[in-house]
Amino acid sequence: MTIPEDILQKHQRAGKIAAEVREEVKRTLREGIPIIDVCEQVELMIRRKGGKPAFPCNVSVNEVAAHYTSPPGDKRRIPEKSLVKVDIGVHVDGYIADTAVTVGFNSEYENLVRTAEEALEKAVEIFRHGLSMSRFGSMIQKTIKIRGVKPVSNLTGHKIGRYLIHAGKSLPNVSHFSTARIIEGEIYGVEPFTTLPKAAGKVKNGSEAHIFRLLKHKSLKNPYAKQLLNYIRENFRTLPFTERWLHGCVPHDQHKDAFSELLSSKSLVSYPVFIEASGNPVAQAEHTILAVKDGCIVLT
Ligand code: MN
Ligand code: MN
Repeated sequence: MTIPEDILQKHQRAGKIAAEVREEVKRTLREGIPIIDVCEQVELMIRRKGGKPAFPCNVSVNEVAAHYTSPPGDKRRIPEKSLVKVDIGVHVDGYIADTAVTVGFNSEYENLVRTAEEALEKAVEIFRHGLSMSRFGSMIQKTIKIRGVKPVSNLTGHKIGRYLIHAGKSLPNVSHFSTARIIEGEIYGVEPFTTLPKAAGKVKNGSEAHIFRLLKHKSLKNPYAKQLLNYIRENFRTLPFTERWLHGCVPHDQHKDAFSELLSSKSLVSYPVFIEASGNPVAQAEHTILAVKDGCIVLT
């Protein structure tokens, strides 16, 4: 079973936009730039190219492995000598492309970045219909360990569905017992993460969360909370979003209470930042890949 031509074309359009934006970020990212400018530029470029952000642009620095996006009014800048992961999601009519690049401003991080990229190249080389998740994980782990660095064991790739970033199946980056296999026609975000050999090699939740997703439509007391929830459902459906995207949706002085009610009523789920458990820097590389009979097609 492969995917219908019109759906493939939408994934390919999303993939081309995501790849172009990623390459632009790779060329232009500098130390000292406000992180909110990076997020907003990425999201604007996606829209100008005819796509929509599939999730808020993630700019995760050093030991923050993933899930940081700027809150409104963010004052943080890209630190000097840092290791920066920019993770970009694009959708066209709900058909998603997910890609990431790591930029290191310190030559000490070269091996981490290069190894994440090599592990991704290896993934592309072996990816095909019928490949077991456990074989995939052990080959990625081997590729990373041979270069003297460590994979992050509890971050995985993921099957992608329409309006769904994580559509059930996970793709491990380490040896892992599983009977699941990659099936022809499935699309995955494939994303090895690397860290230093002395690191714990796993992530834990941090205290901040700026990325959210609609969970359930609950009955709400505050009319502005209702208004916000309707806006979220209509504009983002089951895709992640951030507070920057809700600007002007309800009167400014009502936003805080309305948003708090969405969280306390569990209408939304939040995604805390992921931090390397021992505080060591993390690199990532990611492509969106379609599995076919005897190989794969890289969409990003
Ligand atoms: Mn990603
Ligand atoms: Mn992903």
